Amino acid sequence: MKDNKILNYFSLLKGKNLLGSSYLFIGDDFSLVKDIVKLINCNEKVPFCNSCWDCKKINEDIHPDVCLVKPDPITISIASIREAQHALALRSYRLPKKVVIIKEAEALGIEAANAFLKTLEEPPKNSFIAVCASKLEALLPTVISRCRKIFLPFKEGSAKAVGLDKISSFLNGERLKFKDRKQFASFLWTLVLILRDELVSESGLDNQLLERADYERIFEQYPALKEKEVEELITAAQNILKIYGAYQNVNQNLALDMIRTKLG
Ligand SMILES: [Zn+2]
Repeated sequence: MKDNKILNYFSLLKGKNLLGSSYLFIGDDFSLVKDIVKLINCNEKVPFCNSCWDCKKINEDIHPDVCLVKPDPITISIASIREAQHALALRSYRLPKKVVIIKEAEALGIEAANAFLKTLEEPPKNSFIAVCASKLEALLPTVISRCRKIFLPFKEGSAKAVGLDKISSFLNGERLKFKDRKQFASFLWTLVLILRDELVSESGLDNQLLERADYERIFEQYPALKEKEVEELITAAQNILKIYGAYQNVNQNLALDMIRTKLG
């Protein structure tokens, strides 16, 4: 099994009947999403058998209860979104959950994304919606906020995994280098998102959620981070993002030092 932590988490949710309807999977390898779909629907074995009719059809992308939405050719059309909505509204043929998987959600245009918002907000009963994206910054914030976020493990050595390492280095006080302005902005954005998640998870029941599975190690390295510090960090990073949006020639290291001073 590729990532037991995330699969265990979904097993736990399934067992306790706590499975949510809308999840946003962030990463660059989404094979785990299919495993999760099998896990929540296969009743042969825990986490899933991989050999029953349903598991096989899910593997082949031809299960009648699983609707795949992908860009055609470069954007996801409103028509595809309507199809997915229609699929969710129908009674399921076989599976306990009707599934919609949005591949490359970055390809959702504003209209298509807006059309899908309502479904994310009030999904039909027994729906499981998996929104897959590599770049959070390319999604509408409203889409992000309506989904539970699962950070998938990045492919080793992939360009996107570097972002995570950078955040880890940043929290450890190391100097960072960015390829270009875009990469720097993307780093800040991810930092804000992670910190926000940290705040949410500090505040109660969600504490057990492993949605930040891949980011957890970062905070293991920084156990002393208090809620107030996190809040200040978010504000600082957001301010830098604002400034950075306006002026191209911000001194990146100076900006990062400013954020870092909030760590006390
Ligand atoms: Zn099975």
